Amino acid sequence: MPRLRLDFEVRSNLVKYSDGTLSLCYQCGTCTASCLLSPNLGVRSLMARAQIGVVDDSNAWKCVTCKYCEVTCPRGVKIADVVRGMRIVLYEKKIVPERLVDGLWRIYEDGNPLGSPRRERSLWTRGLKYSQGEAEVLIYTCCMNAYDRRLQGVARSLVEVLSKANVSIAIASEGESCCGDLVYNIGEEYYLEELASNNVSLMEKLKPSIILTLSPHCYNMFKNVYPRYNAKPPAPVVHYTVYLSELIASGRLKPGRLEANVTYHDPCYLGRFNGVYEEPRTILQHIDGVNLVEMEHNRENSLCCGGGGGAFWSENVEARGVTRVRLREALDTGASIMSTACPYCIRMFEDELKVAKYTVNIVDVLELLRESLR
Ligand code: SF4
Ligand code: SF4
Repeated sequence: MPRLRLDFEVRSNLVKYSDGTLSLCYQCGTCTASCLLSPNLGVRSLMARAQIGVVDDSNAWKCVTCKYCEVTCPRGVKIADVVRGMRIVLYEKKIVPERLVDGLWRIYEDGNPLGSPRRERSLWTRGLKYSQGEAEVLIYTCCMNAYDRRLQGVARSLVEVLSKANVSIAIASEGESCCGDLVYNIGEEYYLEELASNNVSLMEKLKPSIILTLSPHCYNMFKNVYPRYNAKPPAPVVHYTVYLSELIASGRLKPGRLEANVTYHDPCYLGRFNGVYEEPRTILQHIDGVNLVEMEHNRENSLCCGGGGGAFWSENVEARGVTRVRLREALDTGASIMSTACPYCIRMFEDELKVAKYTVNIVDVLELLRESLR
């Protein structure tokens, strides 16, 4: 059996990245029992190695950073943060899956992980009315919503819904770059700082009162990660589900009618990462005719789509099993529509449906709301 070499510097860095919680792990194995990727990912042993400063390169890249295991950990260990700490170490050693490196290069060169031309970033806005100066809200477009044809419709729905509520909108357009979620999850610390600083400079020029995000990943980056990299956004960062539920509560936005049996999938980066569980449900429940049915796992216990932590870009095969389990849960509710509020979740589920051939429609909450208003 090969001997493990203890590394106290790595150990102390991993403890730091987990806010000290790594030291609390007492190896009970609850995380391994609950991890969505078990038995392909041994979390308990990953944490045991981390405690002595040993980084497990294959398992560290498999984790989808969903935090599902953290809900059951009796010691409050920030497992996903330990995993990211390991990735920082691995990035420095240049041990990174090739597909993730490709994604990183595309962000360096084109400002987005899809590799689409920067000049085409605002094509999705064609025909829409918005400003490039001061407005009530600044929509910061996720790369997925800006370039992916399927997801451009979701971004357009947001503009349409806000227009119905007479909210003035600014869109940063071509100047935007990726929020850096992939850069963060790869562990590229220096470029992340530069990217965050450039994006915040752009936001400052547009003088927003509110920065509205479509993706929970952009939301998490701007709200929680950027301030740790000396790049605090110049206005409150709000996910669109929160903003629209407030417009509904104030009477400024009145959802219409749409008959449908709908279930809702909680995106990990909106739910477990940021505690937004009720607002998307509030929107759905205000659409007359919508019957909202819950899946077995919901809110804090929601399962993952399998696309987080860079898994969408690395085409993590093990994570595909997670996607399919979640789709089956949606089918078990009898709902014909599975709604969610994250572009990655939509893409993961729709891609898996092509193989699984289940009959359920995947939509963003925004698309249902826009449809009800037509
Ligand atoms: S559940 Fe928490 S305490 Fe138990 S092994 Fe996992 S990380 Fe350690
Ligand atoms: S964050 Fe998700 S994938 Fe990673 S170890 Fe925990 S449950 Fe498993």
